[in-house]
Amino acid sequence: MAGDVGRCKLDHMSLHPSLQPIFDTVLHRNPGESEFHQAVQEVLHSLGPVVDKHPEYLELSMFERLCEPERQIIFRVPWIDEQGVVHINRAFRVEFNSSLGPYKGGLRFHPSVNLGIVKFLGFEQIFKNSITGLPIGGGKGGSDFDPKGRTDLEIMRFCQSFMLELYRHIGEYRDVPAGDIGVGGREIGYMFGQYKRITNQYEAGVLTGKGLSYGGSMVRTEATGYGLVYFLKDMLGAAKKTLDGRSVVISGSGNVAVYAAEKVEAFGGRVIALSDSGGFIHDPDGIDLEIVKQIKFVDRGRISEYVTRRGGRATYHEGGNVWRLEADVALPCATQNELDEDDAKSLVAGGVIAVAEGANMPCTPGAVKVFSEAGVLFAPGKAANAGGVATSALEMQQNASRDAWHFDFTEARLAEIMGDVHDSCAAAADEYGSPGDYVAGANIAGFIRVSEAMLAQGVV
Ligand code: NDP
Repeated sequence: MAGDVGRCKLDHMSLHPSLQPIFDTVLHRNPGESEFHQAVQEVLHSLGPVVDKHPEYLELSMFERLCEPERQIIFRVPWIDEQGVVHINRAFRVEFNSSLGPYKGGLRFHPSVNLGIVKFLGFEQIFKNSITGLPIGGGKGGSDFDPKGRTDLEIMRFCQSFMLELYRHIGEYRDVPAGDIGVGGREIGYMFGQYKRITNQYEAGVLTGKGLSYGGSMVRTEATGYGLVYFLKDMLGAAKKTLDGRSVVISGSGNVAVYAAEKVEAFGGRVIALSDSGGFIHDPDGIDLEIVKQIKFVDRGRISEYVTRRGGRATYHEGGNVWRLEADVALPCATQNELDEDDAKSLVAGGVIAVAEGANMPCTPGAVKVFSEAGVLFAPGKAANAGGVATSALEMQQNASRDAWHFDFTEARLAEIMGDVHDSCAAAADEYGSPGDYVAGANIAGFIRVSEAMLAQGVV
C-alpha cells in the first residue's frame, strides 16, 4: 500500500443552496480538520433532496446541530517504556450525538490520529449507528500512540494510563467505546481491567469487543468483515449477481480485512490479494487465511512474511497497492482515502463490478465518482461496515441481560441486521430519486432516523 494514504480529498461537490452556507460555517469553525470537512461535505451532498421534501429540518437547524459534537475531550497520556523513557501522547474522545442512545464508537491507536480524524470518524458513526436501527448514539476516540513494535507490558501501561482519564467520561448508559485500528482484544482487555479497578464495579457494558471469557460476544471479532460481505452479497443479489467464483482484492490485513476474506471464501469467492502499510501480497491460487492469521494475529508480523511461508505462486510487492490488480470485486479495508481516482480507474479497467468499503471513508470522492460513472456497484462504509457496531450493540444486550448467545444465533442476528441495513439504504435511495445509489441511501436513511429522534427531544 502506498505510504501517502490518509490525506483529505475535498472535492468540488455542488451542495444544495441552503446547505452550502452550513458547510462554509463548518469549514470556518473547524480549521485544518480536513478529513472532517470531507465527511461532512459527502453527507450534505446527499441531503439536498431531503431539504426539498422536509424544509422543517432546515428551519430547526438539524444540519447545524448534527455537525457540532455534543462534547469533545482532549487529554494527555503519560507512560513509561521498558527502558524507563517517559512518553507523552495525546488522546481524544468526541461524543458526537446521543439522540439514539449512549455514544458508541471505537478507539483508534495510530500515529496519524488527530482531532480532525476523530471527528470525521465520530460524524460518520452517527449515521452508521442510526441505519442499524439499534439504540446507539455516535462517538469516536483514540490516540496518536503507535502500538507497532511495543511490548505487551508497554501496551498495558499505555492502556492503563489512557483509561485513568477516559473512565470519567464513559459508562454503560453514557459512552461505550470499542476497538478500531490498533485496538483489538488485547487492548480492550487492559482497558476493561483498569476501568474495573478504578470504579470498583464490574460494569460489563462499558466497553465492547471484550474477550469471550469476561463478557464479550460471539461474532464480535468477525462482525465487521462478515457484515461487509453480507452487505456485498445483498447488493450483488439486488443486481441479479452472485459472489460465486469471483476474484476479490482486499486492502489491509487487520481485523476487518481478514474476516471479510474469510466470508468471501465461504460464499464461493476467491481472495487473491491482501496488504499492509508496507506493501501487498498477490496469490493467484487464493490466499491461505490460516497463514495470514498466524502472521498477523499470533506473531504480530508483516504481511510480506506470507510469501516464504506459502511458497507456490505467491508474490510480495513492496510499496504497491492491490488496486492495480485485475479483480471482479474490491474491498478497501485499511484506512481513509486509501483508494483514489487513479486507483478507481485502474480497477474499472481491470473489470471490477462491485466495490464495498470495509474501512471508514477509504475511497476519495474522485474514486466514488469514477465507480458511479462506470456503473460499478458501490457500497459506502457507513452502511457496509455497520456489522461491527451492530454486533457491539448485541454485546451490550447480552451484558445487560447477563446472557451469552451462541455463535450461530449471533451470526444470524448479524445477517438479519445487515439485510435490513441494505434494504433501508435501497429504499431511501428509491424514495429520494436516486435508485441504486447506496451512498445517497445510507446518508438519507441515517439522517432521517437520527433527526426524528432529535426533533422529538427538543433543543437540547
Ligand atoms: P486493524 O488495526 O486491525 O488493521 C488495519 C490494517 O490497515 C492493517 O493491515 C494496517 O497495516 C492497515 N493500515 C492502517 N492504517 C494505515 C495507513 N495509514 N496506511 C496504510 N495502511 C494502514 O484495524 P481494523 O481492521 O479494525 O480497521 C480497518 C478499517 O476498518 C478502519 O478504517 C476502521 O475505522 C474500519 N472499521 C473497523 C471496525 C472494527 O470493528 N474493527 C468497524 C468499522 C470500521 P499496518 O499493520 O501496516 O499498519
